[in-house]
Amino acid sequence: MKLENRVIMITGASSGIGEATAKKLAANGAKVALMARSEDKLKELKRDIETQGGEAIVASGDVTDKDAFAKAVSATVAAYGKVDGLINNAGLMPLSFVEKLKTDEWEKMVDVNIKGVLNGVSAVLPELKKNKGGDIINISSMAAHRYFPGGAVYCATKSAVKMFSEGLRQELAPKYGINVTSIEPGAVATQLTDTITDEDILEKMEEMMEMETLQSEDIANAIYYSLTQPKHVNINDVYIVPSEQQ
Ligand code: NDP
Repeated sequence: MKLENRVIMITGASSGIGEATAKKLAANGAKVALMARSEDKLKELKRDIETQGGEAIVASGDVTDKDAFAKAVSATVAAYGKVDGLINNAGLMPLSFVEKLKTDEWEKMVDVNIKGVLNGVSAVLPELKKNKGGDIINISSMAAHRYFPGGAVYCATKSAVKMFSEGLRQELAPKYGINVTSIEPGAVATQLTDTITDEDILEKMEEMMEMETLQSEDIANAIYYSLTQPKHVNINDVYIVPSEQQ
């Protein structure tokens, strides 16, 4: 299915995978609604997209705030008349060993990585039902497949996203024509590691990032692929890792 005139909301659009995805989808004809907390960065991205001939709106907000998400959906509908898809991409990864008890960081991960996805689904589902179909793409992680040092809580949040995606697919795809995909990337060079405060982990991350990682554009390509299949094709999982990653 072509992307022309499809209206796609992207959370975490102010950097990394979300930003690259917004550019890729807009370059291929989608109208994109950009959501994140950093409004200035979103405004700059909107300008970039428009300079390239694409269409975008800024629908800034915090994904942990249910009302803010609902407002972002309303702003998108006001601008473009509908929503065809949502990419739940916003996420945090403040890795730490459990015994350090960084409980505030655990809670943030649960709030953004899990509850943010639930808020997105509850905000957008009535619109997708109205349209008699659409797409929900959730950005999970390789962390849903295996534990890595300091990742006990992060891996748990990404496993939740992967299994929630499968439940959503089974409930929504046959009944409403809403296709659901879980994207599970390995290491991608972005700012995701900036939220790590545990020094033992930071050292390990530096070693890991010495390999040739994926780029945000590689994940944007996987998202584009998932969105452009014929309507009867649901891409369930895309598990995509750097060739060098063990
Ligand atoms: P970045 O740190 O570059 O981007 C994270 C994005 O999430 C930013 O746009 C940030 O925007 C947004 N965000 C964070 N908190 C909130 C919030 N409360 N409300 C709204 N937006 C928020 O990292 P990535 O691009 O790497 O991360 C994107 C997704 O990919 C995440 O879910 C991550 O877990 C996943 N992922 C990343 C991998 C990697 O190796 N990089 C591997 C596997 C999965 P702002 O601060 O402006 O709100």
